[in-house]
Amino acid sequence: MHEQEYIKLTLLAGIYILLFTYEQYRPYFQQRKGHAQHSARNLFVAVINAIISALFMVIAISQTSQWALENNFGILNQLNLPTIYTYLIAILLIDSWQYAWHRMNHVIPLLWKFHRVHHSDKDMDASTGLRFHPIEIIYSNTLRIAIIPLAGVQVEHLIAYEIILLPIILFHHSNIKINENLDKLLRIIIVTPHIHRLHHSNIKKETDSNYSSIFSIWDRLFNSFTMRSIETEFELGLGEKYSAKEWNSFKGMLAIPFRKD
Ligand SMILES: [Zn+2]
Repeated sequence: MHEQEYIKLTLLAGIYILLFTYEQYRPYFQQRKGHAQHSARNLFVAVINAIISALFMVIAISQTSQWALENNFGILNQLNLPTIYTYLIAILLIDSWQYAWHRMNHVIPLLWKFHRVHHSDKDMDASTGLRFHPIEIIYSNTLRIAIIPLAGVQVEHLIAYEIILLPIILFHHSNIKINENLDKLLRIIIVTPHIHRLHHSNIKKETDSNYSSIFSIWDRLFNSFTMRSIETEFELGLGEKYSAKEWNSFKGMLAIPFRKD
């Protein structure tokens, strides 16, 4: 495993433990009973996804990006810029792709069937940030195999991006109460818990907005930014039909895409 991969995993575990602890003391939504079991179920799916990615995707992605470098293929390889600019542009390119891809997951019905596993969590917390259907992980990564050489992005750029992305993903999914002014300040640059909470609201118009991952600019640029005060009441998830216990078990989550409704 790449040395940076260890940094990524250690960072992920550390930030997760911090947020999980903070969620106990200052939750935005009152914690329901069984919070620990809920997190454990989501983390179990996350581990399965990490294993799938490590076994099938990491080598394919590193080989295609290496091929692009050797053949001077893709935007970044053509530009031939100093390292620091290459990293900056790579991070912006990947984040803009994440935005576009996330938006497609909401707009294209077949993709939404799988992506709704992530949205069906009525008790969103930091662990929800890692709850995705394994088939969504497989096709997202397969598409990356094509996108990465086109952008000329290298594995080290991708890992740098993930080192920034993962703490922010956990942070903006976490069920923590933070001061509205702090959220306002942070949201100028990054996706905050309140921005992303609205993306998980049970009101469709809000779910179909706020698609950005790291930088909030993409939603503002492409007219999909939604905001309302932190103080207003709202519910998360996709309504009662997904909140039954059976749909939140490991088997239930895997079955959600194949539901008729
Ligand atoms: Zn979404």
